[in-house]
Amino acid sequence: MPANLTYVWRPITGGRHAFPIDNTRLDTDEEATAYCGAATLAQNLHETTELAWIMEPTCMDCWQHLAAKLTDCGDISVRGLRGGAGSGTSDAAGLRDPLLE
Ligand SMILES: [Zn+2]
Repeated sequence: MPANLTYVWRPITGGRHAFPIDNTRLDTDEEATAYCGAATLAQNLHETTELAWIMEPTCMDCWQHLAAKLTDCGDISVRGLRGGAGSGTSDAAGLRDPLLE
């Protein structure tokens, strides 16, 4: 059994950030804070578009935070995804968002 999802990726201005899953249960006018420290209104976690997903680059601070956490648990291998060229082409194929499926 896979572990319960503990985070969500959301494109907000400036990047596609990872937020603790609890942030999706905040009131819409409360502040959600990504793992890298980026903050946005919780309402923005629910108002994403496919275009935003395409336009925003993945936040590497959030990515590396999760990668370190997941590899510590031996949960998934992200070895091939770390230390990339930083070209912004890395995708989140291994970190799919259930709300968008
Ligand atoms: Zn971030």
